Amino acid sequence: MEFKELQEKIVANAISYGKRYNVEIDEDFALLKLYEEVWEYTQAVLIHRRKSRPEKFLSEEKSKEELAKELADVVGMAMVNAHLFWIDLEEAFTKKWFNNK
Ligand SMILES: [Mg+2]
Repeated sequence: MEFKELQEKIVANAISYGKRYNVEIDEDFALLKLYEEVWEYTQAVLIHRRKSRPEKFLSEEKSKEELAKELADVVGMAMVNAHLFWIDLEEAFTKKWFNNK
């Protein structure tokens, strides 16, 4: 799947979420939700690295699965933010990560 196609599917999913739960998917929501997802990823890392309360520990396989899900949420919400702020993420990646002149 191409990057733009992936982004379009993620944005469509966010819009569908907004309609289902009557939540306006605007720039404020997207930023706050990104922070929420970063927090969830942080918690997943703490659990995966066994630096949380022992009752939260999961098997290696399950905690890795949770890490992947939460990181996907972070990247997905970053894509929603880019869409709402009219940012071409592919272009931004190229400029920021690959053009170090
Ligand atoms: Mg999440």
